[in-house]
Amino acid sequence: AEEIMHRTEKLSVVGQLAAGIAHEIRNPLTAIKGFTQLLKKEDNNDYLEVMLSELERIEDIVSDLLILAKPQPSKKEQVDIGLLLDETVDLFRSEAILHNVEIFSEIELTTPFIKGESNKLKQVFINLLKNAIEAMPDGGKITVSAIRTNNEQIVVKIMDEGIGIPEERMPNLGEPFYSTKEKGTGLGLMICNRIIKNHGGTMNIESEINKGTTISVFFPAFSPPENMKKSPG
Ligand code: ADP
Ligand code: MG
Repeated sequence: AEEIMHRTEKLSVVGQLAAGIAHEIRNPLTAIKGFTQLLKKEDNNDYLEVMLSELERIEDIVSDLLILAKPQPSKKEQVDIGLLLDETVDLFRSEAILHNVEIFSEIELTTPFIKGESNKLKQVFINLLKNAIEAMPDGGKITVSAIRTNNEQIVVKIMDEGIGIPEERMPNLGEPFYSTKEKGTGLGLMICNRIIKNHGGTMNIESEINKGTTISVFFPAFSPPENMKKSPG
């Protein structure tokens, strides 16, 4: 256990350094991308197309690293996780149609609150939904469910019918830069893990090849005082 803790600590220092570098890279990157777009407008050249697509790749990595950079503890508020899931699923409506994917919500929460940072939590579900869509190149169904258990936990599941994950690849998930995708950054699950951990939660991955993957996220439920049982805003 000590070994593991040591490794996690080291990772976060490296992560912070990488994020600092990412921040410095963003401005020149934006400039280079802008000028490349201008050049391409003047002369629709294949090389410029390649340059733009590679620049976009760097942009993806930089923006993922910047999410890792955000200072750890900030103010945690009462978050209505049911509402947050609805909002997150809505963000994917057009992308889902584009990929022939249907997203179903089965959110059954009487007291849907956890204590946390809504932007970070949203980032978790954005990453998981993105992975679910990307796992189904021919389309399919995604089910997002949420329940509150008897032992005061909120369990959110994102279930897809995608390609699945081979057993032997399971240990690699969440390692920085581990990706099986041509355009992947391999940072999504690492970011999820980190945010979930910061909320006192855990993540579990079950998968079957060509059947699909279910990601379960467990959070400690929050019971607001009687007079505050409405979500703010
Ligand atoms: P990326 O999506 O950029 O590749 P992630 O950290 O989000 O990085 O995911 C890492 C890897 O885990 C993916 O490349 C993929 O191989 C695997 N993976 C994650 N989610 C799923 C899923 N729902 N179905 C199948 N494979 C998945
Ligand atoms: Mg991903």
